[in-house]
Amino acid sequence: MRVQAVLLDIGGVLLDGDEPLPGARDALERLRAANLPFLLLTNTTRAARAALWARLDAAGLTVRQDQLLTPSVLAQAWLAREQHRPMLLVHPGLRADFATVDEAQPNAVVVGDAGDGFSYAALNAAFRLLMRGAPLLSLSGSRYFREGGELFMDAGPFVRLLEAAAGCEAVQMGKPGATFFHHAVECLGVPLASVRMIGDDVESDVRGAHEAGLQATLVQTGKYHAGDERRLPAGACMALNVLEAVERIVAGD
Ligand SMILES: [Mg+2]
Repeated sequence: MRVQAVLLDIGGVLLDGDEPLPGARDALERLRAANLPFLLLTNTTRAARAALWARLDAAGLTVRQDQLLTPSVLAQAWLAREQHRPMLLVHPGLRADFATVDEAQPNAVVVGDAGDGFSYAALNAAFRLLMRGAPLLSLSGSRYFREGGELFMDAGPFVRLLEAAAGCEAVQMGKPGATFFHHAVECLGVPLASVRMIGDDVESDVRGAHEAGLQATLVQTGKYHAGDERRLPAGACMALNVLEAVERIVAGD
């Protein structure tokens, strides 16, 4: 089906740390010139939405704030709807996204990439809440990310650790959860199968999008490493970088 809208991952696709990746600015320009609506969909949970937006802007990747979707937004809506108070196992940089939530007497656990916050004490406090029946909300199922040439563990392994310890299953707020992709497609207002996700994570971005009913392109930047293409789902595309991925979409490929 012809692509009518695009979702782009940020880390490893548009940005490496604070720096724009080659072709990133041109890729957004091509999408605008082709009148293709797009949203940025990130699992990055080390920075609040406003800070991430400012970082993109400083890198010359200017988008409207409502074009930036993060798992925090979905998690807050879930907490409000279910009337739950969270224990936040998240990075200090993300706390601004949860400034309005009540953290007293928590009865839910929210896990993002907490970095050094993943201490035994913090994980065990979360484990005890889960054993009392508190739901576990995962902001990212990603295993790792690459920044400045180094690999970093993401939230995914810690979510799976808590699932294993407490014998529970997390509610996925970020990629690869279908809820996040479907929320994005709803914002775009086009058919699910006409939306293509561009990402550097073969699991979270590409397989996640495919399983949610979208199209997907794997770019060979960021965390991509040789051999990832063997794990591509049927029909998924490959591109050297985000600019090539967008040029092929615009050309109707
Ligand atoms: Mg990425």
